[in-house]
Amino acid sequence: MRTLVWFRNDLRVEDHPALYEAMAHGEAVAVFCLCNAQWRDHDVGDNRLAFMLDSLHALAGDLDALGVPLRLITAPRFDDLPKRLVDLADELEVDALAFHEEYPLNERVRDSKVTRAFEDTNRAVHVHHSGTLMPPGSVLTNDGDPYTVFTPFKKRWLSTVGPDALAPLPRPKPQRRPDIDNADLPEQTDGVPRDRVAGRWPGGFEEAQRRLNAFIEDRIARYDDDRDFPALDGTSTLSPYLSAGAISARQCLAAAHDANDGRLRGGNAGIETWIDELIWRDFYRHVIAQFPHVSRGEAFRREMDRVPWRHAPEELEAWKAGRTGYPLVDAAMRQLADTGWMHNRLRMVTAMFLTKHLLIDWREGERHFMHELVDGDFAANNGGWQW
Ligand code: FAD
Repeated sequence: MRTLVWFRNDLRVEDHPALYEAMAHGEAVAVFCLCNAQWRDHDVGDNRLAFMLDSLHALAGDLDALGVPLRLITAPRFDDLPKRLVDLADELEVDALAFHEEYPLNERVRDSKVTRAFEDTNRAVHVHHSGTLMPPGSVLTNDGDPYTVFTPFKKRWLSTVGPDALAPLPRPKPQRRPDIDNADLPEQTDGVPRDRVAGRWPGGFEEAQRRLNAFIEDRIARYDDDRDFPALDGTSTLSPYLSAGAISARQCLAAAHDANDGRLRGGNAGIETWIDELIWRDFYRHVIAQFPHVSRGEAFRREMDRVPWRHAPEELEAWKAGRTGYPLVDAAMRQLADTGWMHNRLRMVTAMFLTKHLLIDWREGERHFMHELVDGDFAANNGGWQW
């Protein structure tokens, strides 16, 4: 049994159910699809693109050590993928396709079209869960409805979570390498060099693991206090790695749980608060999965689409450039422009400033953030702006 494992926002080999299962039951070949035109339509910016490419290079090295060849498909849009992936499956004589579920609408449409194309060629398609700690649909109200507010979601999440969310899969055992060449990975994509953000944000699992270990050793115990002060290095800076899937949320949760003597609640207040942030991440992903209108650029709370936003292009430009005259807002926007990242408290301040002070449509801010952020993530960004 030869399985084509399709990597997307899960650029790692550890705790990768699709790869793990494929290698446990046969032979794996990996593929990644570069869809620059589609991603640009989704407002993915140069920082995120460069980070993804650098992480892909790191993944290629890890796959190589496991004897798994990596192929690359360069196609402008998701619509090109059913045919391109089936052609590759024919060429490599694979029996099945495996990937992890993704939740935004266009990604779900893409995956169902690709699934149909593979099923039409009598190949199995294995869809695994990995993007969240608890799968969307598993945290519901007593009436079976999705939650729309975080605190009750968190309560139910904590009372439902099982051992699976704390048991990351190991790195698979190496396989005998099939006679398939590796792709030559590009050093740049869509005009963006791979090393654009690598000084500050080197891609790949090794760096993610290093950051996680350092955070747990040095900072997590004070996280509940320090995270409120943007001038401190009080947070994990793991967001680009979690967004690209260079590390899994399950690996992060398991490490925090171990550091808290095997507890999710109680114990150290810093660790407990950090675990809450991982639950926030789940919450917004569940929202995206369960409320498709959010993926269409519509307000989560419908009545908010009736807000008469101001058209104020000059003020919007001043906000983007960090020239509002409000020092905290300007410092934050310059941090974003210079580093591709912004502290959570500053994301909240600058988002509030744009929407509640300048009364400019949150979608303008969402788009600008997505364009600049190295950790740009549709669910977290949209959730942050809608909040
Ligand atoms: P830590 O404080 O160490 O938290 C650990 C992890 O938990 C983060 O890496 C992230 O994966 C997750 N997390 C933390 N806070 C949140 C949150 N509020 N919502 C969802 N997940 C969270 N995060 C992104 O990853 N990508 C985005 O595009 C993004 N856009 C945002 C836009 C706005 C307006 C706001 C208010 C928040 C946004 N966030 C986004 C959430 C949060 O600000 C960042 O995840 C966090 O600042 C990243 O820093 P860190 O890795 O040091 O986080």
